[in-house]
Amino acid sequence: MNSSIPTSWLEPEAPAAAAPNTAKIERETHKLEKRLCRQVGQAIVDFNMIEEGDRVMVCMSGGKDSYGMLDILLKMQQRAPIKFEIVAVNLDQKQPGFPDHILPEYLATLGVEFHIETQDTYSIVKRNIPEGKTMCSLCSRLRRGILYNVARRLKCNKLALGHHRDDMLQTFFLNMFFGGKLKGMPPKLASDNGEFIVIRPLAYVAEKDLIRWAAHREFPIIPCSLCGSQTNLQRVQIGNMLRDWEKQYPGRLETMFTALQNVVPSHLMDSKLHDFQNIQTTGVEDEEGDKAFDAEDFTPPSLSGLPGMQVVSL
Ligand code: SF4
Repeated sequence: MNSSIPTSWLEPEAPAAAAPNTAKIERETHKLEKRLCRQVGQAIVDFNMIEEGDRVMVCMSGGKDSYGMLDILLKMQQRAPIKFEIVAVNLDQKQPGFPDHILPEYLATLGVEFHIETQDTYSIVKRNIPEGKTMCSLCSRLRRGILYNVARRLKCNKLALGHHRDDMLQTFFLNMFFGGKLKGMPPKLASDNGEFIVIRPLAYVAEKDLIRWAAHREFPIIPCSLCGSQTNLQRVQIGNMLRDWEKQYPGRLETMFTALQNVVPSHLMDSKLHDFQNIQTTGVEDEEGDKAFDAEDFTPPSLSGLPGMQVVSL
């Protein structure tokens, strides 16, 4: 953790005094809010996600994650040691039954700057993808292009997406199991057209906390199955695997997430990351050197010793 960062990114204000009968619920909720703010603040700091003068386009799908992201970012904006702007953006893709009044009404009550972009990608996808084939790849390509255009028009330099810790772990395993790559979902990266910085402020946040926060805040969630696309079976399979592991071995998700922040290229096999060709002896002891026949020590590094990590019990 960067200790020179002002704590105002990380600490919400104490709650006002509560009536005795609601005190316990409020205490729990305040703990949850504190954790969400701390984890989002920590991710922003650790990856330098938001800087002075940024104009951040917060992509809103109408799902619990994007509502939670906007909610916490607005709190962060109040107490951040720097000035930055937030513009909430939703792309109405004209899926049948999409309740297009919900987001504008909700965003208007927040008083946040927002923009609803309406473009009928649904019809384009339906016209071009044969019945029964998955529509997601064309749909998301179209969506990406439109969102870049909107960001350009709104003069935003950063795009905030609502992916959380569990999404990142899922992507890591999807890449490993189906893509043959050790590759996850980055907390911050330049967009593929090189024009924007994409950030994921919920990188340290567990999905179960976002579910609880959405219920507490009563976000007007828009169902995500309106497009009628087939479920991504690979993602469902990985999601189930992770949930089963967590049930059977509590804490495993935290340990795996820690591993994503603690990579040892010399102990993998990618010659692009480590120069195996030219390894020489140094005559100097090195904890990370090969221990030959000794059994490996699989004790994970202290979870609390790594940025953004803590074991969450609910
Ligand atoms: S689930 Fe539906 S809206 Fe989402 S990318 Fe796939 S086709 Fe598009």
